[in-house]
Amino acid sequence: VSDGGGRKTSRVRVAVRLRPYMDKQDEKGEGPCVRGLDSQNLEIINWRNATETVKYHFDAFHGEQTTQQEVFLSSVKPILSHILNGQNASVFAYGPTGAGKTHTMLGSPEQPGVIPRAVREVFNLVKTKDDGWDYSVGMSYLEIYNEKVLDLLSPGSQDLPIREDKDKNILIPGLTETPLSSFSDFDRHFIPASLNRTTASTKLNQRSSRSHAILLIKVVRTQLALPHRQQTGKLYLVDLAGSEDNRRTGNQGIRLKESGAINLSLFTLSKVVDSLNTGVGVRVPYRDSKLTRLLQDSLGGSAHSVMITNIAPEYKYYFDTFSALNFAAKSKLI
Ligand code: ADP
Ligand code: MG
Repeated sequence: VSDGGGRKTSRVRVAVRLRPYMDKQDEKGEGPCVRGLDSQNLEIINWRNATETVKYHFDAFHGEQTTQQEVFLSSVKPILSHILNGQNASVFAYGPTGAGKTHTMLGSPEQPGVIPRAVREVFNLVKTKDDGWDYSVGMSYLEIYNEKVLDLLSPGSQDLPIREDKDKNILIPGLTETPLSSFSDFDRHFIPASLNRTTASTKLNQRSSRSHAILLIKVVRTQLALPHRQQTGKLYLVDLAGSEDNRRTGNQGIRLKESGAINLSLFTLSKVVDSLNTGVGVRVPYRDSKLTRLLQDSLGGSAHSVMITNIAPEYKYYFDTFSALNFAAKSKLI
């Protein structure tokens, strides 16, 4: 695949994770509307006619029994070593609100998700490196809300600009970058910031389902010998806004404006992933939204990217599941 400038770009790996059936009061009360077939295939059952199904094929399918550890090992761990070699990577969770994006990315103390596992692994990798480079790790944590870039490590921050340097690296001047020396260091800074975000969400009408939360782990390595060459690898871990169609729920005013912004950035993300995975010589529309502009140097190009599409099995999610699977399936085409 070419990025339009003639360079080769890597495709985005697409995985689907189905969470367990939880809603005992489901509209139809007829059990799940999605069925896993094997480790790459699933089907969705027509809600009018249970004998009619649509089948989908993905790079990976994680059924409802899949553990956090299995998701991490299969979809995330393989890309982490690249961060230490100065390459970029991104992992994002896509899907409707309630389908398990935050469970997958953040998890709970009992069932930690991709974020704590990935950060732990980055420190493990750094510790065992003995290759003539000195490694340092830092974090930033931000949110894109209404097409505004907000610093979650500096509460009350204003909309931050996104810039590109001459080497096409994306930079956010003014964004807090906290140096980390260990996993517990990370925990200490990240947990309060992520709690802030989730508590605020209940007050602000589920803001957390309407904004994109983006954790950046940056690894800078410096050659011990002259000329002390330096390389930077970035890992973006993204809990995306809910993919449900907000127009259906009759939102007005500020809610409608948010929906427009969510739809713009998710819609652009789908176009970007699409052109990376299907288009030869197609222009990749990174600049059409803040989310894709921010991820530009870590999605496509030489970067390693994984999209985990989260879906729920209850019938009340039927249309959102259907559209999420179609989004993911389109992204999967080579
Ligand atoms: P989202 O972030 O997509 O809105 P959540 O991660 O908050 O969804 O998940 C909704 C609910 O389902 C939460 O109570 C969460 O703990 C639970 N849940 C999601 N995925 C799983 C899973 N794989 N196993 C067990 N519980 C899950
Ligand atoms: Mg969530």
